[in-house]
Amino acid sequence: MKRLVLLGGGHAHVHVLAGLALQPLAGWDVRLVTPYRRQIYSGMLPGWIAGHYPIEACAITLDRLASAAAVAFHPTEGQALDLAHRALHCADGSALHFDALSIDTGPVAALHALPGSAEHALPVRPIERFIEAWPRLVSRILGQCRRFHLVILGAGAAGIELAFAVQRRAATDGWSHLYITVVGADDLPLPGAPAAIRRRTARLLAQRGITWVAARRATRLDATAIHFEQGDALAFDACVASTGAAAPTWPGASGLLTDARGFVRVRSTLQSVSHPHVFAAGDVAAYAHERPKSGVFAVRAGPVLARNLRAWCEARALARWTPQARALYLISTGDKHAMATWGGWSWSGRWVWHWKDRIDRQFMRRFDNPGSPGL
Ligand SMILES: Cc1cc2nc3c(=O)[nH]c(=O)nc-3n(C[C@H](O)[C@H](O)[C@H](O)COP(=O)(O)OP(=O)(O)OC[C@H]3O[C@@H](n4cnc5c(N)ncnc54)[C@H](O)[C@@H]3O)c2cc1C
Repeated sequence: MKRLVLLGGGHAHVHVLAGLALQPLAGWDVRLVTPYRRQIYSGMLPGWIAGHYPIEACAITLDRLASAAAVAFHPTEGQALDLAHRALHCADGSALHFDALSIDTGPVAALHALPGSAEHALPVRPIERFIEAWPRLVSRILGQCRRFHLVILGAGAAGIELAFAVQRRAATDGWSHLYITVVGADDLPLPGAPAAIRRRTARLLAQRGITWVAARRATRLDATAIHFEQGDALAFDACVASTGAAAPTWPGASGLLTDARGFVRVRSTLQSVSHPHVFAAGDVAAYAHERPKSGVFAVRAGPVLARNLRAWCEARALARWTPQARALYLISTGDKHAMATWGGWSWSGRWVWHWKDRIDRQFMRRFDNPGSPGL
């Protein structure tokens, strides 16, 4: 029997698994290799911090989904690929042979360029480690009588949503001694977003008592402060690093063709440019039509990946995919309000949060009853 290995339980692979639960892949042994038994839907994570959702509401149960799809679950991490022998080497010492491989392992935290950040900051990725560390951070905040200074380094959507979410939690739980600062490399937060929403975000941060430190490039961290290219260091009690997505090193090291940053280059069929029996989707992939690293495109790649993996295994023609040029971004601001951007357009308000909440819950519901035809 031939074998398809799904590496990583990311946002595209959950769609592949849900499809297999509806219609198995005859004649193929399918395996899922991923370190955690659940996949956190990152769009809802700030809502967990803010206290809007229990963590279970933000998690897709991967082992249950795999079981419904008759896919064997390997709770470990892929560490190296031997492309010549078509083998995946895993952190638990096992090696899995594959005839086809699909990679949806997401990015890693971009910490390599910032000395000291791995030791002294709490990165938002891997998300499971962030979730594990969050209660310890809360205990530290609660255990300190004097002012506690939390610095969020990185002013992209994730950093901004986290800042608003923590501020909301502090307001509802009475952490009046918590003082939050967001540091960004640009003049305004949310690089890449329409100017109106960037200005609005800066105003909103100020209204919530969150300090915005603009146009500062961090060069290193020590145990108590961030140091910058210019100007004074910024002291902190804790620092959360949300400095963007970097590529894992193992795909390039294995000989898969990557882009200059190390992301797996794929054709419009999602097949590796260098190894057509290897597919990649989500943030780990460098699409033929370049798109920002975002959950939106990982989710959108899911149905295409599911269709093309099946077609490849059944020796049928593969479909080509051009990711949409614009994506809807929904950024929650902690108080059950949110901002939306679509190309140059933007909206904000309570209704946007309810819209986001509906979209997020609808996405999660697809995986509640894997195998039911409601998908
Ligand atoms: C706080 C936060 C909020 C965000 N909010 C949004 C948002 O609102 N909208 C949006 O579009 N984007 C958002 N993002 C970005 C979004 O999280 C990513 O773009 C998205 O997760 C990418 O999906 P993915 O499937 O590529 O990877 P991931 O979601 O990272 O999934 C990767 C999976 O692979 C597993 N894995 C990792 N390494 C290995 C390995 N070596 N071997 C096997 N398995 C492995 C992981 O455990 C995980 O299950 C947010 C990010 C953060 C941190």
